[in-house]
Amino acid sequence: YLTLKGLAKRFGKTRVFSDIDAEIARGEFITLLGPSGCGKSTLLRAIAGLNDVDSGEIIVDGHDITRLPPQRRGIGMVFQHYALFPNMRVADNVAFGLRMKKVRPEERERRVTEVLRLVELTDQAQRYPHQLSGGQRQRVALARALVVEPQILLLDEPLSALDARIRRHLRDQIRDIQKSLGLTTLFVTHDQEEALLLSDRIFLMHQGSILQQGNAASLYTRPVDATAAGFMGHYN
Ligand code: ATP
Ligand code: MG
Repeated sequence: YLTLKGLAKRFGKTRVFSDIDAEIARGEFITLLGPSGCGKSTLLRAIAGLNDVDSGEIIVDGHDITRLPPQRRGIGMVFQHYALFPNMRVADNVAFGLRMKKVRPEERERRVTEVLRLVELTDQAQRYPHQLSGGQRQRVALARALVVEPQILLLDEPLSALDARIRRHLRDQIRDIQKSLGLTTLFVTHDQEEALLLSDRIFLMHQGSILQQGNAASLYTRPVDATAAGFMGHYN
């Protein structure tokens, strides 16, 4: 459903990633696991259309979206750092994308109400971001990504700033929502346990390349090399 073909990106002389090839099925939950600086965020931003790529193609459902502007890609993204508008109430933060797309007010209100219910934030709709906890803010970000009814959801370490209990709760909530909507999802994390628990498949990323793709069991029992083994918790 989502195909990445030979994607490559550099910033000046620095290669951020290259030879990124992947085939992701509709409704599949993929975790992108890799160390800091390996190119995870830049790859997600490229898929979302927030960075361009130097070469390669991004195909969604048979359509080449590589040159489309972000708002026409049918992709929702949650960022590593919340990126909410501080001066807007929760409901307006969530409605923002719909305003940009010129969705009528009644329809806008209906959809905002629906996604706020989905992320259990109905009671917080009139608050400002600074009046919310970290977990609530991240749920606003999730609602904002979902409100445009994307086919693909990109999550860049949405849980990393949260404490363990909230983190588990939101993790399960994300998985439930993803399953119920049948969203094709790419989730970035540093956390191996999260990757093992959530994913249909895991992509191990290292120095700008995908080192190995597979389900948790196959990565664990058949790592391609020592680096891949290290990711999955084999240390020798
Ligand atoms: P982390 O786990 O720390 O979030 P990451 O895997 O998401 O790391 P990226 O943010 O994609 O890593 O960065 C990959 C590389 O690209 C890094 O070396 C970074 O310094 C570089 N980079 C990212 N954005 C830019 C930019 N706008 N200009 C120049 N270099 C950049
Ligand atoms: Mg990152």
